[in-house]
Amino acid sequence: MERLYEKIRKEGTVIGTEILKVDNFLNHRLDVEFLDLVGREFHTRFAGEQVDSILTVEVSGIAVAVLAARYFQVPVVYAKKHSSKTLSEETYNAEVFSFTKKTTYQIKVDRKFISPGDRVLILDDFLAKGQAALGLIEICRQAGATVVGAGMVIEKDFQEGGRMLRDQGVRVESLARIRYMDEERIEFMGGGADAL
Ligand code: 5GP
Repeated sequence: MERLYEKIRKEGTVIGTEILKVDNFLNHRLDVEFLDLVGREFHTRFAGEQVDSILTVEVSGIAVAVLAARYFQVPVVYAKKHSSKTLSEETYNAEVFSFTKKTTYQIKVDRKFISPGDRVLILDDFLAKGQAALGLIEICRQAGATVVGAGMVIEKDFQEGGRMLRDQGVRVESLARIRYMDEERIEFMGGGADAL
């Protein structure tokens, strides 16, 4: 985990006290070799759980989900934020309020990609207020699937998402938990894994 902390410290930029920009390795340019370690770490954390598919939301969750899926050897399903002619009309839908964009949008997953009884692992890049994760959980609920847990690369502990999900009984595994940040410093919660 030290490596993830170091990357966040060296390559991240804090905007105000709430937004962390990590587009050097996670959100714009993708450090594939590093993200492969992230994927492997999620696999280690959820070892022993039966996982039938990994569910994320476009765009920034996809890279992490794909690299983790190589270890789990399961498909990735990503919820779409935009309707298109190629998207089936038979979808599970949920509303998500975006904390970074301050807008509400619908996420959609084709019904054929999640089946009743499936055991689904949710993965995403950030956990902030938990709205994206709640939308994905709602989609699993509509599908009759079981949520195995939620794996987040970076959790901002000072925002309420993690607490809300854990209070609902969701197993949340975050690889870096930020307790506090501003333009001068970033403080982590500690307790990370050694593999990163
Ligand atoms: P939530 O739904 O938990 O409020 O926010 C999660 C989503 O918002 C993530 O999928 C991520 O794309 C985006 N997000 C939230 N906080 C941040 C942040 O500090 N930096 C970046 N780059 N994205 C964020």
